[in-house]
Amino acid sequence: MDLTFNDREAAFRDEVRAWFAANPAGDLPPLDEDARYAWRRDFQRRLAEAGLAAVHWPVEYGGRGATLTESAIFFEELGRARAPLPANALGLLLAGPTIMTWGTEAQKQRHLGPILTADEIWCQGFSEPDAGSDLASLKTRAVKSGSEGDDWVITGQKVWTSGAQYSKWCMLVARTDFEAPKHKGLTYFLLDMEQDGVEIAPLRQITGEPEFNELFLNEARVPDANVLGGAGNGWKVALTTLMNERAGLAFFLQVRMRQLLDRLIADAGERGLLDDPVVADKLGDLHLRAEVLRLTAYRGLTAVQKYGQPGPEGSLTKWMWSDTNQQLTQFAADLLGPSSLQAGDPWAYELLRARGNSIEGGTTEVLKNIVAERVLGLPKAR
Ligand SMILES: Cc1cc2nc3c(=O)[nH]c(=O)nc-3n(C[C@H](O)[C@H](O)[C@H](O)COP(=O)(O)OP(=O)(O)OC[C@H]3O[C@@H](n4cnc5c(N)ncnc54)[C@H](O)[C@@H]3O)c2cc1C
Repeated sequence: MDLTFNDREAAFRDEVRAWFAANPAGDLPPLDEDARYAWRRDFQRRLAEAGLAAVHWPVEYGGRGATLTESAIFFEELGRARAPLPANALGLLLAGPTIMTWGTEAQKQRHLGPILTADEIWCQGFSEPDAGSDLASLKTRAVKSGSEGDDWVITGQKVWTSGAQYSKWCMLVARTDFEAPKHKGLTYFLLDMEQDGVEIAPLRQITGEPEFNELFLNEARVPDANVLGGAGNGWKVALTTLMNERAGLAFFLQVRMRQLLDRLIADAGERGLLDDPVVADKLGDLHLRAEVLRLTAYRGLTAVQKYGQPGPEGSLTKWMWSDTNQQLTQFAADLLGPSSLQAGDPWAYELLRARGNSIEGGTTEVLKNIVAERVLGLPKAR
């Protein structure tokens, strides 16, 4: 891609930069998790009002139909402004694109608008206690209700459901055909979380936050109109979500990682550590990795614009991002010393939160298998 700006792109950059200057992220409340979430939700609402919540979405769905370069400009400016991830990240990056790919016109009309404005938050109900990497072995069951037959009744348990406590909707995959081979008996549902059959139990992470949850489904009901992509087609629909998760989330997160690296360089500079050749060498290495990641993420965006959805290369970006972010946060702790490990220090949070990076959205081992088989064309692992 060509990142030289024409007049239109330069005007877009000025518009976005002016918007972030007028809406600074610096007043984000520091510690209370609910207050931070409410702030991020309002921030996304303001972005949506300015037509900036999802610039690369097609105009007909509330985006700006931004070109690849304009999308890149938006993310560069987001990083430059040290702005947070939008509150409805899973809606914008996973649910929205999956509904655009597989949804009926009615589903698109109903769901895409409230995703953009963060009026309706989404979570992802894929993983179960006995089904993570091997997602297709999931056991949550959905059966058609007896009398009218146009509702599905869903019973089972999901786990690690991030943001379920704030969510109105869940991307839920459940087993609907118990005789079919495991990948073929699944269906993808748009589940309304606000009902008696849905119970959420928070799980506290090593960082102290209950970012994710157990999700218990006890005869939860979903109308047939909320099946996405057709009954029995859930595996294919889920793959669309997973590919968008790896490519899209890594794209956002490489911007976030750049912010962290700039903060580390500034912190090291303040302590007079930049003249140490070992420190300079490691920071140089991290800078190189961050740049490679940025350009690889743009390549992924090119694939989305050319083919309508990301390719398996998104797995490579996600793997590189988690590896680099773990190295960066560990190096920050080594460099800045014990103060960076105290509760309340932002580096302590980053170090602990980075542990989950190589698990969430597909573990590094599984992503390596995908890259080996589907990008490099190597023989399948046993
Ligand atoms: C912070 C965080 C947020 C999350 N949010 C969500 C969410 O919102 N929604 C959701 O549905 N899930 C979520 N998850 C769950 C995540 O997707 C799973 O944890 C992940 O897919 C791994 O599944 P598992 O935990 O069952 O581990 P397992 O699949 O049991 O894996 C255990 C170990 O075996 C290895 N392994 C498994 N299969 C293979 C293989 N074929 N080859 C080589 N090694 C293998 C794995 O790499 C891992 O080291 C989240 C996880 C985290 C950490």
